[in-house]
Amino acid sequence: MSSQPPTAPVDKEDNWGYDLYPERRGETPKTKWWQLAMFGGGQTNIERTNCERNVYNCFQNSPLVKLMYSALKASGCEIDLRRHIACEVCDVKVSGGYDPRLNQIVVCQNMARSTGMVQGILVHEMIHMFDACRHELDFKNVHHLACTEIRAANLTHCSFMSAMAQGDASFFRIKQQHPECVKTKAMASVLAVRPDLSKEEARAAVDKVFTKCYNDLEPIGRRVRRNSTDMIRAYSERGNYGYE
Ligand SMILES: [Zn+2]
Repeated sequence: MSSQPPTAPVDKEDNWGYDLYPERRGETPKTKWWQLAMFGGGQTNIERTNCERNVYNCFQNSPLVKLMYSALKASGCEIDLRRHIACEVCDVKVSGGYDPRLNQIVVCQNMARSTGMVQGILVHEMIHMFDACRHELDFKNVHHLACTEIRAANLTHCSFMSAMAQGDASFFRIKQQHPECVKTKAMASVLAVRPDLSKEEARAAVDKVFTKCYNDLEPIGRRVRRNSTDMIRAYSERGNYGYE
């Protein structure tokens, strides 16, 4: 028996320690004195409008976000922007999250200020949402948690990061480092939500499900490389997976 809260937190970007998401507790974040001085207190609203505009842009223009939207819809979990996505002020430690209790994605308006960053958060969290929809994910089960974090890191974070960090480095090097990147990122995500686990336990959980979850590329179908046509190809081939 464990004494966890009813909803296990998800990861560092999406840590369901509700202290990181004051608005989830029904609090209105207080306007800071410098915001009052500089912006007359309207800053939070400007941030929210900006964030909502970025979210809307991603749903209009990002092939990956559109692909995830189609995949969720085809799986019976259609996203309604107003119901399932919320721009909120978060603790500065996080940039986004998936709240399994409400089946809602949080985009941290004070942290994610560019369309690119909002896109990264949306796709990562939509993979958690997809897994929750499709596989009846139990976020309290450490192997389920490890698997969805492996998939999110695999399909987005590590693919973007390795290409960015590597620049023109050979594809071979990226191929070699990619699984390590996914393991490291997934382990960090698992540990962030399960501080009760030791590093060894988190690594063991990631290792146990790694091969299966690393090779499960649904619904994107490929590891997306930055500045490549992968995103557009993935979106245009979505029919192969039965997503319209
Ligand atoms: Zn995550």
